[in-house]
Amino acid sequence: SSSGLNTQEIDGEVLFRRLVSEYQTEVKNRAQTLTLEMPGPMPRLLVDEVQFYQALTNLVGNGLKYTPNEGHVAIKVSVDGKLLDVSVKDDGIGIPADKQDRLFERFYRVRSSETSHIPGTGLGLSLVKAVAEAHGGAVWVESEEKKGSTFHLQAPVVVV
Ligand code: ATP
Ligand code: MG
Repeated sequence: SSSGLNTQEIDGEVLFRRLVSEYQTEVKNRAQTLTLEMPGPMPRLLVDEVQFYQALTNLVGNGLKYTPNEGHVAIKVSVDGKLLDVSVKDDGIGIPADKQDRLFERFYRVRSSETSHIPGTGLGLSLVKAVAEAHGGAVWVESEEKKGSTFHLQAPVVVV
């Protein structure tokens, strides 16, 4: 299609359960917790499943990666009409206020003593932004240094 998306109607519950199950080994190894809260019933979604899933894994992967062992990552899905809001909240290292604007740029990484040993290319969030926008939505962050971060991916993809 002209949007570059291969849009299909999919089962939202199946997608999010697969997302959480993908990280079980890593979460266990690092004594972290990963929780999922969904509305019941979870609706069907009209998305490019491959791209949308990739965006979700980038957010959850970051949440776990930038959160120390024994930390917590919580995925919360909420629905308001056509609008899907996915928040990924962690209690990890957080992001300094003056660095938050640039996070979604390609190759941008925060440089600090806490991040210097954590590998990454700085592309994940630029992809999340592109996927959110391609679906007519947006991504943003609320974060406090040393307290944690909450990323929101919001898009009008709910089948009503
Ligand atoms: P890649 O995702 O390409 O492997 P990356 O994780 O470094 O590498 P992004 O996902 O684009 O790249 O994130 C950009 C930067 O934003 C990260 O390098 C990190 O500094 C910061 N960041 C992203 N998510 C979090 C988070 N949940 N907590 C703290 N910092 C984060
Ligand atoms: Mg990343």
